[in-house]
Order: sequence, then C-alpha cells, then structure tokens
Amino acid sequence: MKKIFVTGGAGYIGSHVVRDLGKKGYDVLIYDNLSTGHEWAVLSGRLVKGDLADKSFLDEVIKDFKPDAVMHFAALIQVEESVREPLKYFRNNTANAMNLLEVMLENRIKNFIFSSTAAVYGIPDKLPVNEDVPMNPTNPYGESKAMVEQMLSDLSNASDFNYIALRYFNVAGADSQGRIGQAYKESTHLITRALKTAKGELPKLLIFGADYMTSDGTCIRDYIHVDDLSVAHILTLDYLSDNGKSRVFNCGYGHGYSVREVVQAAKKVTGIDFRTEETGRRDGDSPALLADSSRLKAELNWKPKHDDLGYIIKTAWEWEKKLDTILNKCTGDK
Ligand code: UDP
Repeated sequence: MKKIFVTGGAGYIGSHVVRDLGKKGYDVLIYDNLSTGHEWAVLSGRLVKGDLADKSFLDEVIKDFKPDAVMHFAALIQVEESVREPLKYFRNNTANAMNLLEVMLENRIKNFIFSSTAAVYGIPDKLPVNEDVPMNPTNPYGESKAMVEQMLSDLSNASDFNYIALRYFNVAGADSQGRIGQAYKESTHLITRALKTAKGELPKLLIFGADYMTSDGTCIRDYIHVDDLSVAHILTLDYLSDNGKSRVFNCGYGHGYSVREVVQAAKKVTGIDFRTEETGRRDGDSPALLADSSRLKAELNWKPKHDDLGYIIKTAWEWEKKLDTILNKCTGDK
C-alpha cells in the first residue's frame, strides 16, 4: 500500500498521522473542509479542501488519486454538543462516513481505517474494557461512531472490504518538536482547558462532577499521547498489506487518572497554581474508562513510548504556549 487518502488530515490527530505517513514515504492526499483543521498543520502530502457531504467532489478526488487505503479522521467530537445537537453528529459523523464508504465501493477501494472512540462503550461493567464488550454508548457522539462501526462490520461481512476501527481513549499531548497540536477554537478537553486556565485564557477550570463512585469522586480517563496513537495507525497499514482481516482495536494505556490528578499534574508541569471550581456532572459522561489494549499489542506489535502523564502535559503545554502566535500569524496572512 502506497497511496493513502486521509479525511480530516489537517485536524489534531490526523495531522500527526499525516506527519508520520510522510516520514514513512507514503503518498498522502488530505481531504479536509478546514472547519476545525488548519492548513499549517499539514506537514506532508497534498491538501484538498473539500467536504464529505459533497459526494460528487469527493468521488472526483478519489477517482483521480486512486488510493490503496482510506483513513477517516474527519468528525465532530464534543460529547456535550452532541447531547444538545444530536442530528449534527449523525449528519457529520454517520451520514458523511456513509458517503465516503459508498464512494470507496464505487471506486473499488477496500481498505479503511476508522477513528472510533471509547465512547462507544458507554459505562462498562468491568475495567479495563476489551473489544469484545458490546457497544453501549451513552451519548449521541458515541452513538454516531458506533453506527459507523456497525456499517463497517456488515460491509466487511458482505464483501472483501477490510477495515480497522481504532477506539481512541483520551488523546492528548503534541508533536515533540512543537510543530502541531490541538488547535480547536474552543476545546472542551480537560488537559487543554487546564492549560488554557494556567495561561490565563480561562478564569478557572470547572471540575464536572465530584460525586462519582471513584477514588476521589471525579471521573477517571486513560490519557494516551497522540504520537503513540499515530504509530498505531501506521501499524494498521502494515497489517492490512499483509492481508490482515477486519479488526477492532482499543488504543489506550490501560490505566488512568482522575480529573483531580490531571489538575495536579498540570499545575506541576506549568508551575502555575490556577483556579478550579467543582460544579455539576456533564451530560453523557462515563465515570471511568480504561482500555485493555492487549489485542493491539499482541496483533499489531504496538509498543507505546509515552505512557507518562507528565510528558503528555509537557508537550501539550509547550504547544499551548505558542498556539496564539501561530493562530494570529495565520489570521494575519489572510
Ligand atoms: N472535564 C472537566 N472539566 C473540563 C473538561 C473536562 O472536569 O473543563 C472532565 C470531563 O467531565 C471528563 C474528563 O474531564 O470526566 C475528560 O473529559 P474530556 O472532555 O477531556 O474527554 P472525554 O472523556 O469526554 O472524551
């Protein structure tokens, strides 16, 4: 496999994978509507500005490029927003994925790598959770992704189409050289918000719920560095090239941190004692999510290198400190 079509490759996770695909010598075409992604985040390959809702343009681009595989990152990702505006998520995440799959089938492209999420599990009975636990999402974001996984499974059963669904746990951190990182206008993610509070951009960090049945009452998540996640994507290409069959893999480290522990770690890395305030639970949140990633390690030989909350926060902090300059420069360029 040489030619990879990457939707959402100008976004946070996609841009890290594009960087690594470039390093490995793949021929990469990025298809992104730039709604949350940025042109400067594309460190290799060629960017085409396009929307997945525009099926005829998508078909044109795919026909012309003739990819061997498609990596699909483009999606909306905010749990809270999905609870308020569910149809936006089914349109963007589910219907657009269906457009892409139809175009792929019409063009006989049979390899697909899908950005799925731990949110498909909902509130699992046992932790860490493995891939055999049935999907049971508790919010429209998780549902919109679980529906795509269902389509993929049915499609794969019905034909010689192969897919890999990577269920991401809590992705954080940034490129070690500080070239790319999270750059959403309004991030809802804990680590980013904590750092924006440390920077003075937010007055205080709200802690959503301190009455969960967890060690300190706050939610526990499995934070994974974006570079380790990116490597998992590259490994899926080797796997599919070796005639590997459709598979679902969790991507996480298997242990987690509470919101309070993340806050402590962020204060330590930044050296800033920023303000926090406990408030009510956020709709759709699961008390704890931890990945059993033994399948990814055993079958794809995944060897994570950055299982260290301090390193994750440090790379995110280095990035966060220069983000305003990058964003202002880009606005100025226009
Ligand atoms: N969280 C919080 N304050 C914030 C953002 C997040 O307390 O400003 C909590 C959130 O309720 C969840 C955890 O931090 O328990 C991780 O949330 P995030 O949005 O980073 O990821 P999610 O697990 O929802 O994908």
